[in-house]
Amino acid sequence: MKTTANIEEIIEETERRNPGQSEFLEAVGVVLSSLAPVLDAHPEYRDAAIIERIVEPEQLHMFRVPWTTDNGEVRVNRGYRVQFSSVLGPYKGGLRFHPTVTTSVVKFLGFEQIFKNALTGQQIGGGKGGSDFNPHGRSDAEIMRFCQSFMTGLFRVIGPNTDVPAGDIGVGGREIGYMYGQYKRLTGRFDAGVLTGKGLSWGGSLIRKEATGYGLVNFVENMLATRSDDLEGKTVSLSGAGNVAIYAIEKLLALGAKPVTFSDSSGWIHDPEGVDLELLKDIKEVRRARVGEYAKERSSATFHTEGSPWDVEVDVALPSATQREVNAEQARALVKGGTKVVAEGANMPCEPEAQQIFQEAGLLYGPGKAANAGGVAVSALEMQQNDERQSWTKEKVETKLEDIMRSIHTQCVEASERYGGTSDDYVLGANAAGFTRVADAMLAQGLV
Ligand code: NDP
Repeated sequence: MKTTANIEEIIEETERRNPGQSEFLEAVGVVLSSLAPVLDAHPEYRDAAIIERIVEPEQLHMFRVPWTTDNGEVRVNRGYRVQFSSVLGPYKGGLRFHPTVTTSVVKFLGFEQIFKNALTGQQIGGGKGGSDFNPHGRSDAEIMRFCQSFMTGLFRVIGPNTDVPAGDIGVGGREIGYMYGQYKRLTGRFDAGVLTGKGLSWGGSLIRKEATGYGLVNFVENMLATRSDDLEGKTVSLSGAGNVAIYAIEKLLALGAKPVTFSDSSGWIHDPEGVDLELLKDIKEVRRARVGEYAKERSSATFHTEGSPWDVEVDVALPSATQREVNAEQARALVKGGTKVVAEGANMPCEPEAQQIFQEAGLLYGPGKAANAGGVAVSALEMQQNDERQSWTKEKVETKLEDIMRSIHTQCVEASERYGGTSDDYVLGANAAGFTRVADAMLAQGLV
């Protein structure tokens, strides 16, 4: 059977077995559609049914999360942990607290995570989890009770050598702290390596908070360097105003670029003078307020509830909020506006049609599994420091992060060329490089 026909059959079978899981099926479709040349070159992968196995998670846990509000009302949410692949190491991937979290969302994130983690070159498998809990408007005490109940449902299936969760949307240092405390209480052990993104005084790593945003900007620098260009003086649009967007903005400013937009679910900000990072951090990290506050306090900025950051003409666009936030029409607008680079800080922010538009227009398009891998890479460095009971310097962690992002970029370029693509086909490159590392390990470990 021809490889493309075989892949189509596997996609159809995956659709049949996972009805209604549109995010998961989209992620599988994008990865598998680019793998035909890899399977042509490696018939042994087909014989060992690597693809059929890789689209099926090793385990999927779902659990009830009951908790009480401050006025004593009982609420019930659903918790998830998908343990997708342990072939390269313990399952590793974040926890997301957001009302849109479903089985399909955690499976798409977990599936992507397998290949992202493989690209980092570290010994980490792929997993993801979270809950449909909405943290917005909840008091600190409510967040703590929710995190404790969530961990009570999760603690049996995680551990420093089995599965190591971290943060994602709605889960930052505060939530990791509450979950870690509950894990320690339930198990009676100080297993620092069971969660990453911890506080610095109890096993966290310097630069973990900054890692995804910094790494994203490092990846963009590597992409631009292939065209003898750099970030100095470039205008940049971003979406999101969370962990990824804030630290991408910090690194952009340090490199002389001009970030001009950011957003949250209430709307978006356009600041043509360049983002005032101190004000943004104060609003989001200290006050935990909405982005509209920024425009009230900065005269150069405007707040919008219509349109999106992709309406602004810029050199570089970094979608860094959530999945499916750039559609075909917005992609066309970016291309028309002269954008040279699109790199994904978020996971799957660009719809498949948008990705195709970027690639056909010949701009540099960096898919999330390569461009935002810096966060998980530093999480793995945090695990390493926990194993050694050491805390590395900021310089040491940042140098390692830059090395890893450079290596991911090189792997993408080389894998794309090896399998018949152009050197700037980062979609083929990232999928092929990540997949082959996982597939080779699966072959070596037999039919499990
Ligand atoms: P945060 O929770 O810190 O921030 C998310 C930001 O995006 C918030 O400003 C949030 O606004 C906004 N947002 C989320 N959902 C929506 C939505 N449906 N519509 C509009 N805005 C939305 O999350 P992170 O910054 O950590 O994560 C952002 C993205 O990056 C996610 O896709 C995540 O999977 C990905 N990522 C994160 C990594 C990490 O290390 N944190 C690593 C790799 C990828 P609001 O507060 O109003 O909801």
